[in-house]
Amino acid sequence: MPSPSSTPDVMEKLVSLCKRRGFIFQSSEIYGGAGSVWDYGPLGVELKRNIKERWWNSMIRARSDIEGLDAAILMHPKVWEASGHVSGFVDPLVDCRNCKKRFRADDPRIKGTPGTPDAQCPACGMKATLSAARQFNLMFKTFMGPVEDSAAVVYLRPETAQGIYVNFLNVQQSTRQKVPFGIAQIGKAFRNEITPGNFIFRTREFEQMEMQFFVEPGTDVTWFEYWKAQRMDWHRSLGLAESRLRFHEHTKEELAHYARAAFDVQFDFGGTLGFQEIEGVHNRGDFDLSQHQTFSGKKLEYFDQPANKRYLPFVVETSVGADRTALAVLVNGYREETVEGESEGRTVLGLHPSIAPIKAGVFPLVKKDGMPEMAHRIADDLRSRMPVFYDDSGAIGRRYRRQDEVGTPFCITVDGESITAGTVTVRDRDTLRQERVDAARLGELLGEKLRS
Ligand code: ATP
Repeated sequence: MPSPSSTPDVMEKLVSLCKRRGFIFQSSEIYGGAGSVWDYGPLGVELKRNIKERWWNSMIRARSDIEGLDAAILMHPKVWEASGHVSGFVDPLVDCRNCKKRFRADDPRIKGTPGTPDAQCPACGMKATLSAARQFNLMFKTFMGPVEDSAAVVYLRPETAQGIYVNFLNVQQSTRQKVPFGIAQIGKAFRNEITPGNFIFRTREFEQMEMQFFVEPGTDVTWFEYWKAQRMDWHRSLGLAESRLRFHEHTKEELAHYARAAFDVQFDFGGTLGFQEIEGVHNRGDFDLSQHQTFSGKKLEYFDQPANKRYLPFVVETSVGADRTALAVLVNGYREETVEGESEGRTVLGLHPSIAPIKAGVFPLVKKDGMPEMAHRIADDLRSRMPVFYDDSGAIGRRYRRQDEVGTPFCITVDGESITAGTVTVRDRDTLRQERVDAARLGELLGEKLRS
């Protein structure tokens, strides 16, 4: 449900910037677009990769107690019976007989009770045309193999977690990890959402970054608190403003029947969207492993050798959307400001340097006197360490603006003094301060700035 906020709504401007500058395009746009599916352009794919890399590094590479996995999207259909998705992954849906549009039954725009004469369609405005609510499963179905019959139905996974549960013992035994330990993966998930929207906030195809941490029952509460704190820190480390982040504890009504506790990390997207979930941290007990044990008939217990006992571990899960995080950092970073002494203002994407798609713009002040050659040399040299963009077209102020708008943290300009003294200016996107540095030290200097 929306939770309106006093933070301004920048979504419309952001959608337009993202298209114009090659971050995000509507899927199949030349055919009129595919509903709530988006393509990442040259800058968007870099941004999302950087976010995923930061997650992968902090969750797997920097730790010895979490292993990585890349499980397949298609799984045995029984997986989804065991997980509860076949019977329970449903939203109540109503149809309008007049305009043929579909809505979630709890859509706040619907007046009256669907299925009764007083109900009014929020799209066409007709009364008495809305059907009574019926349950609609959000999983996409397809067929495995050449026969399209009911025996061949498989699903596109609606979450990545199940690939982790079914591989719990494979990973544990092949790596000889001891509980407590985790398994993490990044991958696509698909949900046939009834009311998708708000750009990449809710889409039908998206990427999740999920980690399941297996712990001894009785230690789950401590680990749950640990992971809550860790995950909030990670969001802060992306540069998301403290004032825009908060926890939301699931109420009894929101809590899944098997869940022992659940907290969402929420981010304030501004405007009518307001605070919304970007990540879920869940204490799932042994629900998932015990379901798979029952449905598969295979024991999934962990053998604790020193204690000489077997048990089903409890799971603390952290589940975050890569696309939703990308939207959060874009919304968080977007700002329009006036520049002292200049008539034209500027639009800035204040992205954390580590996730900015381009790390440095390299410009010759003018296209003569050896400046383009030197600037090309610098750009080629830096390119082996970081994504850079060479630009010699238009006034220098324009070139700075173009980089500000896509979040490039540093701009390097080669001028007359560069040719004689071997120095260049480095302009900081946020402070607008320029420092003159030795061109030979640029790689080292930018490397330091990007790490800090
Ligand atoms: P919501 O209540 O917003 O539908 P959820 O509680 O169903 O989300 P989870 O199943 O916990 O979400 O999924 C974990 C994360 O995956 C979410 O926090 C979100 O970042 C991301 N996610 C879930 N559904 C979508 C979607 N349709 N589009 C984009 N990201 C999504």
